[in-house]
Amino acid sequence: MIHIDGSTGEGGGQVLRTALGLSLVTGRSFQIEKIRANRKKPGLMRQHLTAVRAAAEIGKARTKGAEIGSVRLEFIPGSIQPGAYKFSIGTAGSCTLVFQAVLPALLAAGKPSEIILEGGTHNPMAPPFDFLQHTFLPLLQRMGVKVVAELERPGFFPAGGGRIKISINPAEKLQPIELTDISNIWVSARALSAELPAHIGRRELMVVKNKLDIGDDQIEQMQLDRFGPGNTLSIFVHSDQLTETFTGFAEKSISAEKVAARAVNQARTYIQSAAPVGIYLADQLLIPMALAGAGCFRTSKPTNHTLTNIGVIKEFLDLEFNLSEKTENLWEVRV
Ligand code: AMP
Repeated sequence: MIHIDGSTGEGGGQVLRTALGLSLVTGRSFQIEKIRANRKKPGLMRQHLTAVRAAAEIGKARTKGAEIGSVRLEFIPGSIQPGAYKFSIGTAGSCTLVFQAVLPALLAAGKPSEIILEGGTHNPMAPPFDFLQHTFLPLLQRMGVKVVAELERPGFFPAGGGRIKISINPAEKLQPIELTDISNIWVSARALSAELPAHIGRRELMVVKNKLDIGDDQIEQMQLDRFGPGNTLSIFVHSDQLTETFTGFAEKSISAEKVAARAVNQARTYIQSAAPVGIYLADQLLIPMALAGAGCFRTSKPTNHTLTNIGVIKEFLDLEFNLSEKTENLWEVRV
């Protein structure tokens, strides 16, 4: 039984999700205490409980402590069953974070699966669906996985009600990838609004056009008259090796210009960093890389999420992670 202290490092939901995923893949049981101790409301929220239940269902696991608010969980994995699954969070909790928890199992399932997730699809502090579709999944595809993700309807905070469908056909063996250079950069952007006036998306895109100097053919405005209210602005930075996604999330008391400026700043910082892998992608690439048994990427200074995730991965897998600073704020992470 592996013992995990959920308060170490970042002390958030990722510690739990990584443990769930790798427990199923390795067949090793774990016990976690102080779940999400560093968050405002510690313990299992709806989203985390859904992740535990989803992992348990896909991996025929037995659990103790799988209840709302629980700060302690025991997880004894069984055998992974590929198939068709549907999980509803029931709040605006993030679908993509539930997906993070079960992805390792789906990658190791040997056969295709289809998973439907209902809840939030564009949450602050979680990978928005556009990030999953344009940034993360294409890299998984390059590692040999056939994967298609569909946004059936968006779900925004606080209402939720979104729905995504992911079909995944795993590779026999994940191929390692190397993401070390960034070249031939170009930028595009998309504003998505649901049940909000069209001028919001228009003003966001205007900011992106002006600040990042892109043309009308590189912007897209999507207006939905249902599934709201909600709005996000996605800025896509394309280069030879990958597309990175930076997101601005609308907030009630913040102007469209400010939302856009925040996303532009993230994109600019990334472009100036000379690192192909942005800070969010960095912590999310670690598990696929670990399962491939090798790989390398360059990123800016490793975040607490990245460092914490490496620690949890090493509890389950006997791997060496090498982190080295190449030049100021340009780091290489190698498995
Ligand atoms: P935690 O805070 O432990 O629940 O983990 C949050 C996860 O969401 C991490 O894997 C982050 O990389 C990811 N994340 C947070 N914000 C974004 C964003 N704007 N774009 C992509 N991923 C994100």
